[in-house]
Amino acid sequence: MDKSWIDSQNRISQAYMNGVKKFLEFAYNDKPLKSMIYCPCKQCCNRYLMTQVVAREHIIINGFLLNYKIWTSHGEFLKLLQEAECELYPGCEKFTMLSFIVQLLHLKVFSGSTNKSFTMLLELLNEAFPHGTILLKSYYEANKNTKYLIILMNIY
Ligand SMILES: [Zn+2]
Repeated sequence: MDKSWIDSQNRISQAYMNGVKKFLEFAYNDKPLKSMIYCPCKQCCNRYLMTQVVAREHIIINGFLLNYKIWTSHGEFLKLLQEAECELYPGCEKFTMLSFIVQLLHLKVFSGSTNKSFTMLLELLNEAFPHGTILLKSYYEANKNTKYLIILMNIY
């Protein structure tokens, strides 16, 4: 998910508003709309619970916490872990999404392929694998998510 909007100075831009909307959709993915979430605005710093409407206003008026790129207070690690433990595609018994990506990254490093060629390989695999396959879209996404998952798995 693109989070570059967080760093934007223009909080009334369409990109920022879309980012806020995507964040709130993410935060409320499995919550009732009237429930409260920790507000990630620069003043609340995920310390106070707010309604969706108030959190939206705070994020626009105060700005989004600049260093809050992994939305742990809003379930992002949990979702990454759930995806990591999923089978690569329905019925796949040999690979989880994480084990497959780790093996691909391993091949990338040992073969010396570029980030661009790795991204192109992921794009090809995404096209070729059956519907329901969970693969990341780019080297950047694969590397970032794999790092977070490995850190998290070492913690637990
Ligand atoms: Zn706030």
